[in-house]
Amino acid sequence: MAPTPYKNEPLTDFTTPANRKAMQKALAVVAKELGKEFPLVIGAEEITTTDKLYSYNPSHPSAIIGIFSKATPELAVRAIETAAKKFEEWKFVAPAKRAEYLFKAAKLMRKRKHEFSAALTYEVGKSWAEADADTAEAIDFLEYYGREMLRYAQKQPIVKVAGEKNELVYIPLGVGVVVPPWNFALAILAGMTAAAVVAGNTVVLKPSSDSPFLGVKFFNLMREAGLPAGVINFVPGSGAAVGDVLVSNPLTRFVSFTGSKEVGIHINELAAKVQPGQKWLKRVVAEMGGKDGIVIDDQCDLDGAVSATVASAFGFQGQKCSAASRAIVVEKVYDAFVAKVAEKTKALAVGDPADPANYMGPVVNKGSMEKILQYIETGVKEGGRCVAGGTRAEGDGFFIAPTVIADVKPTDTIALEEIFGPVLAIIKVKNFDEGLDVANNTEFGLTGGVWTNNAKKAEKAKRTFHVGNFYINRKITGAFVGVHPFGGFNMSGTDSKAGGRDYLLLFMQAKLISEKIK
Ligand code: NAP
Ligand code: MG
Repeated sequence: MAPTPYKNEPLTDFTTPANRKAMQKALAVVAKELGKEFPLVIGAEEITTTDKLYSYNPSHPSAIIGIFSKATPELAVRAIETAAKKFEEWKFVAPAKRAEYLFKAAKLMRKRKHEFSAALTYEVGKSWAEADADTAEAIDFLEYYGREMLRYAQKQPIVKVAGEKNELVYIPLGVGVVVPPWNFALAILAGMTAAAVVAGNTVVLKPSSDSPFLGVKFFNLMREAGLPAGVINFVPGSGAAVGDVLVSNPLTRFVSFTGSKEVGIHINELAAKVQPGQKWLKRVVAEMGGKDGIVIDDQCDLDGAVSATVASAFGFQGQKCSAASRAIVVEKVYDAFVAKVAEKTKALAVGDPADPANYMGPVVNKGSMEKILQYIETGVKEGGRCVAGGTRAEGDGFFIAPTVIADVKPTDTIALEEIFGPVLAIIKVKNFDEGLDVANNTEFGLTGGVWTNNAKKAEKAKRTFHVGNFYINRKITGAFVGVHPFGGFNMSGTDSKAGGRDYLLLFMQAKLISEKIK
């Protein structure tokens, strides 16, 4: 039976008492799941190792979320070999059957939606709304990629000739190494994994060391949906120790990575080296960092621009690859914009996001907190004027006050490097055109936007603002699966356009079959 047309999973309205209650209940239920030990899983085998990985709650760093067995390099190799063996069966499973596993998983996740969201609140510090959006996006990826596989499995349009029967079919690649980040600990992990698997590949999934609990929750969900053992192999471990072994294995056919520029470049280089016995060039899909800017024109709805900038900069503590980290403002409205943004930012409540009164939670770990505070110091040292935040916020967690630094010059460190935290740099420009030049002055090209009521200026920006996801008169975060296919240019990655019609192609290759007929 054909599935219903795709539509986005609705976001939960937490102003409704019943929804608030449901989320409170889920937080209580998941609290009881915390602190347990989880094995790594290769094929059907659950394996416990002595070297452990601890996941902590960034709001209360002494609270353990889960304890995970770290893979050794030997186990990493075994995981690849197991996946390679399983591939020989899985690749012949009909696409419709493969898609069914995704639809089943989506159904199960939808039923236990708040449970996944609660896990996100505990493990990575997402507010209710942010966690709910992460879970909804995971459901969307499952529903969308399932349908996409059915589309690619249909008869493909090719030109007809007399005397031949020709067909083009998409077949999978082989064993994939899937390496997601922690910041969409459920959605991105689920999307990357599900896409590779529904396309007929088998994978070794190495979750981020900051969010293995969400990784195991998704892995268990797929098991519950009936996915055969060995199609996904769950292998936590440190990126440095285990990642290189997985990426460089000659049986690895592709790597699907989302994370920082530095690690993406490293993986790309390592994967390019052909190993003894390797029969292909590895394909690397790498989605990396951003330094996303919003250009604010004097001809615009300034209050709208202020709200969109604050939402884009401080949602999930600025830890989105799409987060606004630069507001580039035309001088006529500069002072007014700075004052309004500072005021709105100071009003944001920071604290444990398990409490829905808090808009912003902690940053993900201690190292990250220190790095962000260092960037704030550098920003001020280079001449920036701190107009909001600038310090840690109260609490034992990794809380940083949402920070706005004005008078940043286009070539200052905090105008060019990805900070990945709640820090917004404001840059003054003479006019809109100069704003566009500044917007394009980084090595990244992920998201960006403009606020202007002038149609001509907007038109120019559409052509020249060099980012994968470009927004006009709205916030620059919050891409919806199917609606806003997502991926960036330049050092932001390979522009895979996750949640779009081109994405599954990255995990398949086309085979042309031509048969002589009478
Ligand atoms: P990260 O530090 O680069 O880590 C990403 C993943 O790579 C983690 O699972 C990490 O494992 C692993 N890793 C580290 N070294 C490795 C190696 N040598 N071989 C294989 N894997 C390795 O990034 P993150 O801090 O998790 O995420 C934040 C970054 O992701 C930001 O730069 C953000 O902009 C980017 N991001 C981009 C997108 C996009 O769509 N473009 C979306 C979300 C996030 P460990 O945790 O064990 O180190
Ligand atoms: Mg953690």
